[in-house]
Amino acid sequence: MANILGIHHVSAICGPPQENVDFYTGVLGLRLVKLTVNYDDPSAYHFYYGDYLGTPGTLLTFFPYPEGHPGRPGSGQATLISLGVPSDAIAYWADRFKRRDVDFDRPVSRDGLESIRFRAPDGLQLELVTSTRSAAPAPLLEGPIPWAKAIVGMESITLTEREPGPTRAILENILGFKLISESENRLDFAVEGGGSGKTLSLSIDPDGPVGRQGRGAVHHIALRATDEAGQIEDRIQVVNQGLHASTILDRSYFRSVYFREPGGVLLELATDTPGFTVDEPVERLGMSLMLPERLEEYRVQIQRALEPLRLPKVNR
Ligand code: ZN
Repeated sequence: MANILGIHHVSAICGPPQENVDFYTGVLGLRLVKLTVNYDDPSAYHFYYGDYLGTPGTLLTFFPYPEGHPGRPGSGQATLISLGVPSDAIAYWADRFKRRDVDFDRPVSRDGLESIRFRAPDGLQLELVTSTRSAAPAPLLEGPIPWAKAIVGMESITLTEREPGPTRAILENILGFKLISESENRLDFAVEGGGSGKTLSLSIDPDGPVGRQGRGAVHHIALRATDEAGQIEDRIQVVNQGLHASTILDRSYFRSVYFREPGGVLLELATDTPGFTVDEPVERLGMSLMLPERLEEYRVQIQRALEPLRLPKVNR
C-alpha cells in the first residue's frame, strides 16, 4: 500500500495576475511563497501561496491566463477547495468579505463545523471551514489577518464525479484513503485518520454537466508522497492499474508525477522536499522572479513578456 500523507497543493487557472496576487495575499492573507513561471509554458506566471514557509498542505497555486476561456465547474473536476480557519473565525471572515466586496454565501453549520463559501475573482469556488488546527504550521509574521483568525491551510478538497466507483477504487486501493463517511450524494475519504489536509470528498452528480478546464477552474490537485522512494512505488501502482502516469518531473521545489484518475481529475503526487527555500532565503520568498536553471538564459525575454506586477509590500 502506498503512503499518501495528505494534500500537497491545488493548482488552478486564473485571470489577470495582479488581481490574483491582490486577492490571495491582500484579502485572504496568504504569503506569496514563490514567484515563477509555468515550467511547461514560460510565457505565463506561476504563483504559489501558502503559509510563511510554504508548508505542503497550505499551498494554492495559480497559472494566470487572462485571455483564456472561462472554465465551467462540473464532473471530473475538483469543484470546492476548503481552507481551514480557527474555530471562532467565521464571523470575522463574513465581515471581511462584506467590506472587501467578495461574493460569499451566508455561513452554515454542519456536523458541528461552521463554514462560509465564497468565490475568488475568476469564480473559483472556495470555502473557509472551522479546522481542528488552531494555527498554520508556520504562521505569517506580519500578514494582514490577525493570527487568531488566519487561514491555517487546506482542510479538504471536493471532487465532483458522475460515477464514483472507479475513482473510489483508486483512492482506496492505490492511494491508501479510507471511507470515513457516506451519504446519498457524498463520500468522504481520509488518509492517516483524517483531520486538516487529509480529506478528499466525492460529490456524486450523475446527470450534472461535465466540467471544463479554463479560468476559474482547478487544473489539478497534488497529494503528498512520503518521499522519493514512496513516490516511485506509488507510480508503479498507478501504472499497474492500467493508468498512464508521467515520468517523475523536477519542479524545483518538489518532484512530481501526474496521472488522471478514471473520473477525469488530474492528480499529482508530489514530494515535500526540497521545498521553497531551495533557491532563495525564507525571508525573501516570493519577492523576485525565480526561474529554473534551464530557463535562466532566457530571463530577459521571459520577463519582458510577463505583465509587470505590484508585489505585496509586506510579505512575511
Ligand atoms: Zn502541481
